[in-house]
Amino acid sequence: MDKVVTKAYAKINLGLDVLRKRPDGYHDVKMIMQTVDLYDVLSVSKKEENTITISTQKEELPVNEDNLIYKAIKLMKDTYGFEGGVHVDLVKNIPIAAGMAGGSTDAAGAMRAVNELFEINRPLKELEQIAVKIGADVPYCVQGGTVLSEGIGELLTNLPDAPQCILLIAKPDISVSTKYVYENLNLPSIEKHPDIDAMVKTIKEGDMQGMIEQMDNVLASVTEQKYEIIGKIKKTMIKQGALKALMSGSGPTVFGIFDTMVQAASAYDAIKENAMAKEIFISKFINPKEENL
Ligand code: ATP
Repeated sequence: MDKVVTKAYAKINLGLDVLRKRPDGYHDVKMIMQTVDLYDVLSVSKKEENTITISTQKEELPVNEDNLIYKAIKLMKDTYGFEGGVHVDLVKNIPIAAGMAGGSTDAAGAMRAVNELFEINRPLKELEQIAVKIGADVPYCVQGGTVLSEGIGELLTNLPDAPQCILLIAKPDISVSTKYVYENLNLPSIEKHPDIDAMVKTIKEGDMQGMIEQMDNVLASVTEQKYEIIGKIKKTMIKQGALKALMSGSGPTVFGIFDTMVQAASAYDAIKENAMAKEIFISKFINPKEENL
């Protein structure tokens, strides 16, 4: 085998809480991660020259060692010592710096692909354990699905699939730095934290309405205050009939949950007509373990 083609799916956070800042500067989080049907495609090939090279249609992305794909392949090489070089062609569809783990999922996809291509054949659980060296969201992205993520993102508990719904995802034309959001998060001033345990219960019971009632994101306090477009998109979604609209991760992407495709489509049109976002997708929840990765 000389080439592996894999999909790298984006995530949203159905719930996101930050528990504390740790002495090492990281934050302990408690989040419900959900894979959505929006993905990048990685074509990963062997090459003789012992280097790691990347190409992509997105001009703004780095193709050197700053790309998380590069870091992921380097980590696989340092850990398992396979022979030869690797080229990755990336078709980037996931919005960048959006709170959808776009870079992290590419890194995880590159790890899975190299594992297969070079017949390293380590269990995915093992890849998850080393993946945290690249970034806090990378362990989750190795397998995805509906997952409770704790610690800095490395403690993963699989949950049953969240109840299915129609999803509208809109990324306003601004980039948000995750670092900025965490640095400006004033934890003591937050009066109400999301109840992630209650959300886990609703997911286990397949209770869509209960899950929606628990959906909340503690980081929204920082990002929504800085960028009012986020609140405007949420309002537009609700006005068009969304059961819930929430910011994902550190933002600025907003997702809305809808009962009907007609409502989701009218929210799509309203956001587009008012130039609130260029990148808009109608999507759904997905469990990659049941898909052909
Ligand atoms: P998260 O939800 O994990 O915080 P994000 O969606 O906010 O992630 P990314 O799309 O991962 O953010 O991108 C953050 C930065 O990482 C970008 O500024 C980009 O230059 C850099 N980066 C490196 N490699 C990649 C990649 N393969 N895809 C996207 N961004 C990448």
